[in-house]
Amino acid sequence: MFDEATPGVLLQAVQFAAHKHQDQRRKDQQATPYINHPIDVAATLWQVGGVRETAILVAALLHDTLEDTATTPEEIRAAFGATVLELVLEVTDDKSLPKAVRKQLQVAHAPQKSPGARAIKLADKIHNVHDVGASPPADWSPQRLRDYLDWTEQVVAGLRGT
Ligand code: NDP
Ligand code: ZN
Repeated sequence: MFDEATPGVLLQAVQFAAHKHQDQRRKDQQATPYINHPIDVAATLWQVGGVRETAILVAALLHDTLEDTATTPEEIRAAFGATVLELVLEVTDDKSLPKAVRKQLQVAHAPQKSPGARAIKLADKIHNVHDVGASPPADWSPQRLRDYLDWTEQVVAGLRGT
């Protein structure tokens, strides 16, 4: 199922992401440690999605590092290689664009992503939708929660067949 190097690189990815997200919390009322989220995404890919490709699992663990921390693409390439970097870049928004444009681009680009990136996106959305239901951002109104779910539905529609 995987070679001898796989557990080592998965541990390395958990360690890398944990250090990068160490000062961050999720937006829920309990301010859950951020690292729980990428671990959940990777574990869902393994447990529910049946994903056995190490590069996809590693990229899932790293999926929010470029977008939400000071991590550079070069760091990811040096530590995990070009394939993992490509996957992480595919699931990273261009932060130079306004938020509304980024949200529209997620909808437009979802169908064009590689199979690995689509799987990561889907697991990410599954967990964010779960969080919006079970432990939503503390300051979001019911309307904002609904808007978030409506947008997610549009992105996920573009991931159909994943
Ligand atoms: P944000 O992008 O600000 O926040 C949602 C993201 O936060 C998720 O996609 C997830 O991303 C992360 N996250 C962290 N903790 C949680 C949690 N507990 N539950 C769910 N998600 C969590 O939200 P929007 O996309 O709604 O906002 C887009 C823009 O619209 C923002 O600039 C906001 O200021 C603005 N806005 C929107 C309003 C509305 O009614 N829709 C009202 C006011 C402002 P990840 O997995 O990548 O960490
Ligand atoms: Zn995420």
